[in-house]
Amino acid sequence: MTISSEWIERADKHVAKTYGRYPLVAVRGEGCRLWDADGKAYLDFLAGVAVNNLGHCPPKVVAALKEQADKLLHCSNFYHIPQQIELAELLCANTFGDRVFFCNSGAEANEAAIKLARKYSREQHGENRFEVITALASFHGRTIGTISATGQDKVRSGFEPVVPGFKYVAFGELQALREAITPQTCAVMLEPVQGEGGVNVPPPGYLQAVRELCDEHDLLLIFDEVQVGCGRTGSLFAHQAEGVEPDLMTLAKALAGGPPIGAMVTREKIAESFGPGTHGSTFGGNPLMAAAALAAMDCLLNDGVLDNCLAMGEYLCSRLAELKERYGFITDIRGRGLIIGMELSIEGGEIVKTALERGLLINCTVGKVLRFVPPLIVTKEEIDEAVEILDGILTEM
Ligand SMILES: *Cc1c(COP(=O)(O)O)cnc(C)c1O
Repeated sequence: MTISSEWIERADKHVAKTYGRYPLVAVRGEGCRLWDADGKAYLDFLAGVAVNNLGHCPPKVVAALKEQADKLLHCSNFYHIPQQIELAELLCANTFGDRVFFCNSGAEANEAAIKLARKYSREQHGENRFEVITALASFHGRTIGTISATGQDKVRSGFEPVVPGFKYVAFGELQALREAITPQTCAVMLEPVQGEGGVNVPPPGYLQAVRELCDEHDLLLIFDEVQVGCGRTGSLFAHQAEGVEPDLMTLAKALAGGPPIGAMVTREKIAESFGPGTHGSTFGGNPLMAAAALAAMDCLLNDGVLDNCLAMGEYLCSRLAELKERYGFITDIRGRGLIIGMELSIEGGEIVKTALERGLLINCTVGKVLRFVPPLIVTKEEIDEAVEILDGILTEM
């Protein structure tokens, strides 16, 4: 028995089986490496599913957590919290936003955005204005509200009835969106690049055209940047590279460099509908997580992380394109910055399993798209190492 297999036996008894977990027991991480309970090292190109953008245990974030832990762990949102105030200031200084609501996860950030969009729209346009249009193949979370917003049947299946007032249209198709708008529509909610849906990049100009359509019909535009925000695509937030601004933006995953936090950023006029008592979260924006997020944002803004993301994203794409030249079952390489998908004409599950055995962590979305979301601090050498492992597996197929 290895130490790992003993843990896995215990997990099988009492931990909820909501995940199809791989046989890896994670105990330590540093930079782009993760170690299991038996001391085996892995090159981590999944990075906690785009959470560990600064690598594992980024020193500034760890130091901020340690320092804050000695001072104050939790304080009710009945009172003011300096770290939360500073984080709101920093997010507004670097986005279209004027106000930030803090929570603890991506789903919660999206719940806040949906609730606020409904309340604001009703107040502005009347009782019947509540419907949110989202995209097919989108992913917005696992709460009852966010599975209702998610344009994938498999996420909602078995949990019906879902929340009414959502409609799904093909991602990247403007005409479908135009046709879906009715007098009941209050908002359009999109991921600037779809993550879980298979790393889908919209056609050039799509987000701008959606913005114009929203303006034309007085609809709110919500960008779910939970996965592609915080540097992942090479700009601080994904929409900024296209110069298209939403009315609400949701963040979570990498915002605190590892620890859990969520945020919903919006404009002043809209934020006015979230008055005292309308929404809340016990832990949202607590001193510990806000301190971690301040340190993580400092790294993103000042440590050359975005430049490295763009350079290494280009390099990883070019190395994967070489593989595409050599293997006929690779049909597409796509992405932006360091969220890259490799579409296959075959199932990708076995490749992911074999890669793990050989020390490389990646995953597979929608059955046949291998997803690469390494830390944004990844080096050329680490990319070469990952591509070599992958090449070895593909050669044997
Ligand atoms: C991960 C993800 C979510 C859900 O975030 P949780 O923290 O798991 O609730 C929502 N939207 C997108 C785009 C995501 O990638």
